[in-house]
Amino acid sequence: MQIDEQIFEFTDELGPEKIIHLYEPRTRMKAIVVVDNTAAGPAIGGIRMAPDVTVNEVRRLARAMTYKNIMAGLPHGGGKSGIIADPKTVNKEQIIRTFARAIKNLLEYIPGPDMGTDESSMAYVYDETSRAVGLPRELGGIPLDEIGVTGYGVAECADVAKDYINLDLNGARLVIEGFGNVGKPAARFLAGKGVILVGASDSRGTIYNSKGLDVEELIRVKESTGSVTNYKDGEVLKITDLLMINTDILIPAARPDVISDANSDVVDAKLIIEGANIPITESAERALHDRGILVVPDFVANAGGVITASVEYHAGTEASALDKTKNTIRRNTKEILDKVYSDKTYPRETAVGIARQRVLRAMKYREWM
Ligand code: NAD
Repeated sequence: MQIDEQIFEFTDELGPEKIIHLYEPRTRMKAIVVVDNTAAGPAIGGIRMAPDVTVNEVRRLARAMTYKNIMAGLPHGGGKSGIIADPKTVNKEQIIRTFARAIKNLLEYIPGPDMGTDESSMAYVYDETSRAVGLPRELGGIPLDEIGVTGYGVAECADVAKDYINLDLNGARLVIEGFGNVGKPAARFLAGKGVILVGASDSRGTIYNSKGLDVEELIRVKESTGSVTNYKDGEVLKITDLLMINTDILIPAARPDVISDANSDVVDAKLIIEGANIPITESAERALHDRGILVVPDFVANAGGVITASVEYHAGTEASALDKTKNTIRRNTKEILDKVYSDKTYPRETAVGIARQRVLRAMKYREWM
């Protein structure tokens, strides 16, 4: 049998174990599932629905889930899936149910929500397969966006990281790119620690006030009008101007690769906590670090969502999800930053090194090595 070696181009000692293309001719549902590594247990990872989602994107995100889940000490490996469709125009219930039926026997993959899917989507997946996380409250779910657990974890991460750059959170300035389910609670929890939000953006623009934005009022404006740019007591700037705002803390919490080699030099911050997944390219992260800007990587800082998903899957409570998020993220941030400053290494390399070692150890317990 001849095998096209190209399809194994990205495999390494961890995975991916499976890359599956799915097509259902009646509904024309097209999807990709990547199960990256299941040494620690069945893979948890979201279903992304977007018209332009690619195998490579799903593969990168699946690996990120392997690292995130093992760093968080969850009994789960990493995976991800992508349904190639526009969530605004398709019959979502039909396409999600079709996808769920296609993965019913893929028992090593437990789907969760991601861009383009939500709690209702997970309810349909659960109905078809009896396997999903991020469920509605009525089905025993812990509503992670309602409680803002990822933003909560991001704020706890900042609280640990500040000590490594001698930053006092009381009075520190904050800028948030993407005032959504991660950005809003991050702003709220950090405001509780005395941080002053001076800039925030969404897909329509940036709002800025050097004296500070009222976080609760900004959340109200965003939720009632759809955009932060309708906030009255601030200056409206372009989306791209956000990165240039002089600040102590910057939280990218929207899209991938928003900071790259093309624009990393304009960033004017001391500490960056990655709320979004892969918001900064790896070479830009290194360039920022070389300029003395501390960047805490995504899979360390934004694990609150998957920690809560795992607590939900194992029938835990909302209070224990918050507790586990706080303790895990604080412990991991400290472990990584201690090593960064003692060994003079980059944060992502350090974090990936620790995560890889943990996955390899889990593989040894399974007699895979
Ligand atoms: P969301 O849709 O609730 O919010 C995203 C926000 O970003 C929206 O306000 C949107 O208007 C804004 N936005 C879109 N394009 C923008 C642009 N070009 N510039 C500035 N803002 C823009 O999404 P979310 O759940 O907050 O997720 C944000 C990121 O965090 C994603 O990368 C997601 O994968 C990641 N993440 C989310 C969670 C979670 O618990 N929700 C957990 C881990 C990682």
